[in-house]
Parts: sequence; structure tokens; C-alpha cells
Amino acid sequence: MTEPIVMYKDVHKSFGDVKVLRGVDLDIKPAEKVAVIGPSGSGKTTIIRMLMTLEEPTSGDIIVDGKNLWHMEKGGKLVPANEKHLREVRGDIGMVFQHFNLFPHMTILENCMTAPVNVQKENKTSAKERSIEMLEKVGLGDKLDNYPSQLSGGQKQRVAMARALVMRPKIMLFDEVTSALDPELVGEVLEVIRDIAKEGEMAMVLVTHEMEFARDVADRIVFLDNGVIAEQGPPAEVLENSTNERLQSFLHRFR
Ligand code: ADP
Repeated sequence: MTEPIVMYKDVHKSFGDVKVLRGVDLDIKPAEKVAVIGPSGSGKTTIIRMLMTLEEPTSGDIIVDGKNLWHMEKGGKLVPANEKHLREVRGDIGMVFQHFNLFPHMTILENCMTAPVNVQKENKTSAKERSIEMLEKVGLGDKLDNYPSQLSGGQKQRVAMARALVMRPKIMLFDEVTSALDPELVGEVLEVIRDIAKEGEMAMVLVTHEMEFARDVADRIVFLDNGVIAEQGPPAEVLENSTNERLQSFLHRFR
């Protein structure tokens, strides 16, 4: 059996007195596509932010590529286990946010090239070539010299994807990437994610409210409720056959 690329083991997370995650166990295999659904405030974003090391767990283990991200010190405080590994993990993970976070003063080509050149120290010629290739893949080959302000929301989100992909991540995280978009722009962004998913190699974790999209793209749907995984399984099972009442009432809102 293939080793999971990501393992959450009994992960808890509190912000002050608020317990957001109360014992999450989740394994993700190397090319697996996992959609995370659940009510607002159930901890979906927190789960993926922890993988990106933007938040640390209060307790529990998050293991990426066989190595634990955090290490429990004697007083019970979690600290980064190993700075080098943390940097490597960040390099292996690409994240696309609800708000595109593009650099407004750079063209879209420069937006894509900046991390490979400045972080990965790739030479400019090859970073440029690969960035153009990625921008073509997301359908923006004719906009290379445009600035973000000249693009629609859907186009900006596609740039954000190209920019993440150009780093050749092993894992891509998508955090409600369509929820800030006008409804007519949602389709073009989902289409690009579908294409990326079909290529198959990367693990993908998608936090989404688009149930039909989750059904199409995901190998597994995880329903997060009250800080735990309340249901998970293949899309058809979770969306149609679950007897979990909380899940049914959640899904009812989308019908
Ligand atoms: P979801 O993505 O499912 O909507 P989140 O993971 O964003 O849920 O948030 C879960 C809960 O944690 C919410 O109640 C939110 O207010 C709280 N929360 C998230 N981040 C922070 C933070 N940095 N400080 C305090 N509370 C936070």
C-alpha cells in the first residue's frame, strides 16, 4: 500500500477558549483528491492552513512525507520539529486562496516567475518558459503582460493557480477559490481545477461549497462538523447514501 503523503493524527486546535478542531484523523495518499465540506466555522480553513504551516496545532501530529511538522516540548508546547523540513514542506505545497493575493505591481508573467526565481533560485529563462507554459495551461497565454487590475476575478484566480503550479508542488490546497467570484465566473475556474485534477499526479485538498464539483473531482469527500470528521467516503456515498443527520441537513441547503 502506498504511504500517505499527509497524515493528521488526533489533531486538536483551539483559538483561546474556542475549540475548533477536536481530534481530526485524516490520511491523504500521494495523488488523492480530497474535498472538504462542512458548515461555516467548522474548521475547514484551519485544517489546510495547518498543513501550509500557517497555524500550528494545539496538540496532535501532522506528518508530511513521513516527517512530523511539530514536536512537543517538555512544557507541552508544540514547536517546529525541524526548520529545514518545514521549509521543504512549504516548497512542496501550493495554496490558492479565496482572495487571489496577486502582486498588483507585477504583470501576470512576473507574478508567476517571482517565486521560482527568488525562492527556488531557478534561472530566469527557464522560469519564464515554465510560467508561460502554466499560464497557457490556464488559458491566459494572451495576457502575459497584463496587470492583475486588468483581469476579471476568474482570470485572476487562474493566474493564482498558474503561480502555485509553477512551483511544482506535490500537494495543492484550494480554499474556497470560487466563493469571492461572480457566479458567471465560477465555471471557468472550476474547469481549470478539473483539468489539473485529471493530470493526476498531485494530491489535492479542496475546501468547497460546490457540491457537484466536489462529486466530479474528488476521490473522497470529508464532512467536517463541530471540529471532527463526521463522515467521509467516495462522493456518491457521502452525498447520497449517508445517514448522518447533520450531513443531510447541511446538504439540504444546496438542493
Ligand atoms: P471554516 O473554514 O470551516 O469556515 P475556519 O477554519 O475558518 O472554519 O474557522 C473555524 C473557527 O475558528 C471559526 O469560529 C473562526 O472564527 C475561528 N478562527 C479561525 N482562525 C482564527 C484565528 N486566527 N483567531 C481566532 N479564531 C479563529
